[in-house]
Amino acid sequence: MYMIRALDIYKNFGHLKVLKGVSLTVEKGEVVAIIGPSGSGKSTFLRCLNRLETIDKGMIEVEGEIMVQNGPDGKAVYSDENRIALIRRKMGMVFQNFNLFPHKSVLENLILAPMLVNKVPREEAEKKALELLEKVGLKKKANNYPFELSGGQQQRVAIARALAMNPDIMCFDEPTSALDPELTGEVLKVMKDLALEHMTMIVVTHEIGFAREVANRVIFMDNGIIVEEGIAKEVIDNPKNERTREFLSKVL
Ligand code: ADP
Ligand code: MG
Repeated sequence: MYMIRALDIYKNFGHLKVLKGVSLTVEKGEVVAIIGPSGSGKSTFLRCLNRLETIDKGMIEVEGEIMVQNGPDGKAVYSDENRIALIRRKMGMVFQNFNLFPHKSVLENLILAPMLVNKVPREEAEKKALELLEKVGLKKKANNYPFELSGGQQQRVAIARALAMNPDIMCFDEPTSALDPELTGEVLKVMKDLALEHMTMIVVTHEIGFAREVANRVIFMDNGIIVEEGIAKEVIDNPKNERTREFLSKVL
């Protein structure tokens, strides 16, 4: 079963052509890693899947629901806002810079959206939040504020917060890039645990070791296109394309 189907996505920022016909399908339970040089369009692509950016051309379908497709003139036409809101709720998003609400406690960070958006009663939201904090090893920090936590702890809270909305798909955009090296492991561990629970995941990452070990599939993007993709170990250990080889030789 396809969780996400993106077909021939084009995205420009003014005259800058950032995505030039990118297609990706992700199956239920699959972990897809997206790697590639800075500026190749990885973040933009991920943001387009979640309609944090709008596309110019192409089709995106999430769990069988069309979010956007080409109209008769070949330009992208979005579905109505209600449908898009429902689709977006299926997707959790974790960013490089944690983006926690700074003036809310850890627990409040986790219960806010479930209560406001999903109308979950406070008691139930808190129970689930504490379960999730336990899962990411931070139950003791429930009443602390983000500034009292390390970067790795903040990012684990951000993951728990995304999970609090019961997403079917988790998207990560370089979740460990802002962390000191000694803190990346604890975040990657939480992500690996999620993968082992068969969460569907799309992970933009420079952690090639993680991609090789945890991802089923690796996508190498360069300059707005997918240059190479395949089984993670095969692409990383034995890249076919010269640009993939060059990139991997720099980051490994
Ligand atoms: P990556 O995540 O692979 O590093 P990005 O998707 O962030 O790449 O960026 C791809 C290109 O799009 C870059 O040239 C970047 O400067 C440009 N870009 C990204 N976001 C915007 C924006 N909001 N407005 C204008 N240009 C942007
Ligand atoms: Mg990026």
